[in-house]
Amino acid sequence: MTVTDGPTTSDGTPIDKEALRRKYSEERDKRLRPDGNDQYVRLTGHLTHYLDDPYTPVVAREPKTDHVTVAFIGGGFAGLVTGSRLKEAGVDDVRIIEKGGDFGGTWYWNRYPGVQCDTASFVYMPLLEETGYMPSEKYAHGPEILEHCQRIGKHFDLYDNALFHTEVEDLEWDEPRSRWIVRTNRGDEFTARFVAMGTGPLHVPKLPGIAGIESFTGHSFHTSRWDYAYTGGDPSGAPMEALEERRVAVIGTGATSVQCVPHLARACQELYVFQRTPSSVDVRDNHPTDPEWFTEMATPGWQQRWLENFTANQSGGGADEDLVMDGWTDLARRIRSKIMELPRDDLTMEKMVAAFEDSDFEKMEEIRARIDSIVTDPETAQDLKAWYRQLCKRPCFHDEYLQAYNEPGTYLVDTDGQGVERVTETGVVAAGREYEVDCIIYASGFEVGTEFTSRAGYDMTGRDGVKLSEHWAEGMRTQHGIGVHGFPNAFIVQPTQGANLISNIPHNLTESGRTIATIIRHALDEGFDQVEVTKEAEDAWVDLLLSGAERMLGAPDCTPGYYNNEGQDAGLRARLNVGYPQGATAYFAYLDEWRRSGRFEGLAFR
Ligand code: NDP
Repeated sequence: MTVTDGPTTSDGTPIDKEALRRKYSEERDKRLRPDGNDQYVRLTGHLTHYLDDPYTPVVAREPKTDHVTVAFIGGGFAGLVTGSRLKEAGVDDVRIIEKGGDFGGTWYWNRYPGVQCDTASFVYMPLLEETGYMPSEKYAHGPEILEHCQRIGKHFDLYDNALFHTEVEDLEWDEPRSRWIVRTNRGDEFTARFVAMGTGPLHVPKLPGIAGIESFTGHSFHTSRWDYAYTGGDPSGAPMEALEERRVAVIGTGATSVQCVPHLARACQELYVFQRTPSSVDVRDNHPTDPEWFTEMATPGWQQRWLENFTANQSGGGADEDLVMDGWTDLARRIRSKIMELPRDDLTMEKMVAAFEDSDFEKMEEIRARIDSIVTDPETAQDLKAWYRQLCKRPCFHDEYLQAYNEPGTYLVDTDGQGVERVTETGVVAAGREYEVDCIIYASGFEVGTEFTSRAGYDMTGRDGVKLSEHWAEGMRTQHGIGVHGFPNAFIVQPTQGANLISNIPHNLTESGRTIATIIRHALDEGFDQVEVTKEAEDAWVDLLLSGAERMLGAPDCTPGYYNNEGQDAGLRARLNVGYPQGATAYFAYLDEWRRSGRFEGLAFR
């Protein structure tokens, strides 16, 4: 055994880096499969019932054939923050089109028991200061976040013009009239001077592509359409009494499963959790907000200060203190301190990368050791250990998930990286054995690596009949991750090609919302009919992005997952899924200066 200098476990034992590297690559190789994203099943045809909205009845309405100033597709955080910024800028005629029955996006659909945010509420929940709201906990639970979405909608008067249970099917640029024609699945055909889209990265549920799903005669649903009528209980975590005599299977052990399994473990007679790859599950340490502390802390501008501080701690930018103090900033702090240990006069990129790896080994050993200290059955404990670098998959944080495996009647079915084989009329088959169950809950995630237009559910036809799918055939191309050449008066609201701050998506969205409101306000004030990113500006932005480092998240040598396109080389497409090379703090500062200058460099107004 070669024991190298460097990283140690928390009791000071040196970590065998070579052995760990070998183990990581063995575990990865076990999971690599040639079908990549195609292993999953789209919920079409006879599977569309998995998409039905269990929360709000669909109400009949007349189709819209009118005109609005701004149409926004998506009523999650992106639509809410952009709509709010537009209202603040005096653009009143904003119509949000949303496939759910209310605002909320992710938080509308994901109402599974235990649903909670993994990023601290003070930075995650947008517009807290504007709406005067104090989150009740450091990590707010889903119902509170959904209620906050509704609060934003009411506060900024976004409800009246909104279209719920409505999916856009087509967007077409009408050059002579400088308008977008918006067509929906509810028969609407109205026009909009500007369109913006925040359809979210993870909103199309997917199922594992295994045989027999349709043959199962018991009950089944996807976690993003939780069937409380079947389970009992509610999204606030009330006991699911209807499961008392039920045998339940959960397929998947990602961030969703980690949060709902403890609730199921308490409720079910028997619970089988089918695991293909374990999540890394670190300490949560949630606590209620102290109102006195909050009143003292929340002086004007507080949320912006917190946002900037969190982002600086995450992506560099010289923060002296850490206001948020969570798993994300801890991770960044550890990496920084390892790098700081390096001799200043010999600070090469190679050494920094090695220091990063050392810090990761230490963190993951800590996470694995925590399992041994909690889970009583040694075999289950071993199976729950994640053998990859922490950022290969979405890091999870929970204080009851591992404990759930100590509950009588709760079983981890580890499939050694191979996944569930098939579903029968009566149960689930894994590792050659059939587990008979009454209910299957698919915690199998959402489409990520598929085409943007297929996830959005529509394509856009821009200037000269060019489709967005054609313009992006080789990968995404934008200026600032917001505007696209050939698609005038259209904007996208999402993190890629902008700050790309994955640990706190809403911060990306609020800044994009601010930028879009500033551009639209300018166009309206100056009487311009059209605004469009120039080809030169888009090319220059893409070149700038490509000049930066490769993504750190989900590197190609990671275990497969949606962070690394299921381990498949996506070539230029993957290279373009990056952020501003100097990091998120630098991007936000750049964008702020770009907006303030009033020059709108890279945009052509006509
Ligand atoms: P994920 O895509 O993260 O997880 C899907 C799970 O299904 C994985 O464990 C996957 O295994 C497993 N799976 C897929 N196919 C099979 C199969 N054939 N047999 C057995 N298992 C299978 O989805 P989630 O809904 O958990 O999370 C999606 C994202 O949503 C998160 O990454 C996070 O970004 C976000 N989220 C955030 C939360 C928060 O902030 N608190 C909470 C919940 C979700 P494998 O890993 O091997 O592919």
